[in-house]
Amino acid sequence: MAPSPALRCCKRALNWVPVLFINLVVGWSYYAYVVELCVYTILNNAERISYLVVFHIAFAMFIWAYWKTIWSTPASPSKAFGLPRQEKELYEREERAEAQQEILKKVARSLPVYTRTAGGAIRYCNYCQVIKPDRCHHCSTCEMCVLKMDHHCPWVNNCVGFSNYKYFVLFLAYASLYCAVICATVVRYFIKFWTKQLDDTHAKFHILFLFFVAALFFISIVSLLTYHLWLVGKNRTTIEAFRAPVFTNGPDKNGFSLGFGRNVAEVFGDQAEYWMLPVFSSLGDGHSFVTRLVHLDPEQANSVLQQNGKSPVDGEANPCVLGNNGQHTEDDSKEKTDGGQIVSVTMESEP
Ligand SMILES: [Zn+2]
Ligand SMILES: [Zn+2]
Repeated sequence: MAPSPALRCCKRALNWVPVLFINLVVGWSYYAYVVELCVYTILNNAERISYLVVFHIAFAMFIWAYWKTIWSTPASPSKAFGLPRQEKELYEREERAEAQQEILKKVARSLPVYTRTAGGAIRYCNYCQVIKPDRCHHCSTCEMCVLKMDHHCPWVNNCVGFSNYKYFVLFLAYASLYCAVICATVVRYFIKFWTKQLDDTHAKFHILFLFFVAALFFISIVSLLTYHLWLVGKNRTTIEAFRAPVFTNGPDKNGFSLGFGRNVAEVFGDQAEYWMLPVFSSLGDGHSFVTRLVHLDPEQANSVLQQNGKSPVDGEANPCVLGNNGQHTEDDSKEKTDGGQIVSVTMESEP
């Protein structure tokens, strides 16, 4: 039975509690640093101003990335991934799972979908009624299918996926920087208060606590950041790190890996000036991904070839033979026929 609207509303409000907690901690840390440390404790003007400038740069970048991670609407599959009316009616009328799979297979042939369920079936979302694009998963909290879903993050009350993964990694990076700036500049005064070189004032409590909280957050956020940077380098989502994506030729944890440089560019883009800014610069459209190695089923290969290189999704190119930015990468990809199957090898392969 579906939950009542009041219960859903209550659940939605409760989901904001972790975000509120983070905001309260950040708000207090801002007050403790700017007022208690810089205004009341530091007496030297040059030191005070330089601390305030560095602190505010880290603070602004952190809040910008955090804001973008929270408020980016998760990207969902386009209409092209829904079943056409006739097939949808057939699918709904059909009760046998095998016959339903046949309908899905027929529709999926014209889509750039190369991953399957663990049992080899076409991945279909019964809630959203769409064929799931590669790397797309249904989020039960957001109640929608999310493109290149990484995980649902309670600290931002949003799904981290194709539309905001770059912002999320930058949020972790700038949150680490924010904590590092606080720790590095507060430690001197922390020691002075701790060893009673400075008199007990109301600032003492804030500064001692500020150092502890910033150090604690720094350690936990840096661990998470390190893990996500490793994932970016391997071109894996958190979900894929736990469960390797299954292709038509079986599971392959490195299935989307294109070599370190290209993997980083998939998330951060190919223009270095945008890498450190929380503005969208990830490559691709989130629906189709260049795969390291794909064994296409002959029927699907034919249907792709019949389209003269045109993909069914908004005129995008077939991800197996074209680059992710929609440009031909003929130099990088070689096609070979192998026992009736087309094997598309793309770019550098991982060791
Ligand atoms: Zn769904
Ligand atoms: Zn979600």
